[in-house]
Amino acid sequence: MSTLDTLSEDERFVVRTVRDFVDKEVRPVVRELEHTDTYPEALIEQMKQLGIFGLAVPEEYGGTPVSTPCYVLITEELARGWMSLAGAMGGHTVVAKLLLRFGTQEQKRRYLPRMADGGIRATMALTEPGGGSDLQAMRTVARRDADGYLVNGAKTWITNSRRSQLIALLCKTDPEASPAHQGISILLVEHGPGLTVSRDLPKLGYKGVESCELSFEDHRAPAEALLGGVEGKGFAQMMKGLETGRLQVAARALGVGRAALEDSLAYARERESFGKPIWQHQSIGNYLADMATSLTAARQLTLFAAREADAGRRVDMEAGMAKLFASETAMQIALNAVRVHGGYGYSTEFDVERYFRDAPLMIVGEGTNEIQRNVIASQLVKRGGLDT
Ligand SMILES: Cc1cc2nc3c(=O)[nH]c(=O)nc-3n(C[C@H](O)[C@H](O)[C@H](O)COP(=O)(O)OP(=O)(O)OC[C@H]3O[C@@H](n4cnc5c(N)ncnc54)[C@H](O)[C@@H]3O)c2cc1C
Repeated sequence: MSTLDTLSEDERFVVRTVRDFVDKEVRPVVRELEHTDTYPEALIEQMKQLGIFGLAVPEEYGGTPVSTPCYVLITEELARGWMSLAGAMGGHTVVAKLLLRFGTQEQKRRYLPRMADGGIRATMALTEPGGGSDLQAMRTVARRDADGYLVNGAKTWITNSRRSQLIALLCKTDPEASPAHQGISILLVEHGPGLTVSRDLPKLGYKGVESCELSFEDHRAPAEALLGGVEGKGFAQMMKGLETGRLQVAARALGVGRAALEDSLAYARERESFGKPIWQHQSIGNYLADMATSLTAARQLTLFAAREADAGRRVDMEAGMAKLFASETAMQIALNAVRVHGGYGYSTEFDVERYFRDAPLMIVGEGTNEIQRNVIASQLVKRGGLDT
């Protein structure tokens, strides 16, 4: 049974459509776009047409909603072509889910219809120059006054910042609160005076998509920008949003891992040494076997967490496990793909070196794997072990 068989007929069609898009439109151009670090404008336009920016938006707001397992498999397909494309819609989906779950009617009406067709895109800003893991120590502050909020501070590594018209900003509305998380809120921020994209960060992989520093200097946001209209709930809201974010990162890792496996399989069948295809050398065959086994396990774990999310259950532990295991798997598969390709694995004329540069982002992004282990361990203790 293929993984797709667990989806509805309509959802299978959507995943196959995205797979075709990747094979016909993405794979032929990805190496050039990646090496020149070019924003994939034309591909993003096609993704809009395919409804990819509306996957988490209900039909009443103009979206084309899919189940979380379907969302995972679509993300995997995109990342198989180019991880940056999957990254370009990741934060957008998390913000759409935050709006749906916590937004006021007015906030939903203002943003969701335009987010559904990619007319506006969204990102989330959590990480600061002083740290991304310890979010409660953040320094960005939004002070309430008669005209709304006055925001000061800095964020870093924010994906798509320049091209995102909506930024879900995690900030302190009560810096003196104890415990600190009770003073944290989410503001729905738009570009305007006092908000500067101050720097593009140079990076190892994840090319084509910008990662920037944001500077807030007396940036004005209206009172209506407060997500859900309630202060002090932002930390809990974002932790819920990150359940989706971590599934998305797990799915991106699946895509990179699958691309690396597919390329390795093709190469190992074609390349010969000592008079036979290299896959027939036991060491190379073992690499392929291990890649396929761990990738299958990672996909099943991610789909399990996705199904649990759709059943309405809390999935911080399950999404954390999926993200942890899928990202470490992608790292190992990308490394083994270099081994299988020998010298060509190190060549920029092949895709394998890109997988090797893209895979590490998934062990860091959306909470490092060290943080995932902390989450998993504390949930294990709280729940008294694993459900059996
Ligand atoms: C390309 C890219 C895109 C990104 N996009 C975004 C984005 O769109 N929005 C956004 O908000 N952020 C984004 N990030 C930031 C990312 O989420 C952070 O880098 C990540 O959360 C880690 O934060 P840090 O880099 O400050 O590391 P730190 O928090 O300084 O951690 C450094 C090291 O210490 C470890 N560590 C810290 N605390 C603990 C602990 N309690 N237990 C065990 N180990 C610990 C970490 O695991 C890590 O190994 C992006 C990052 C990259 C590289």
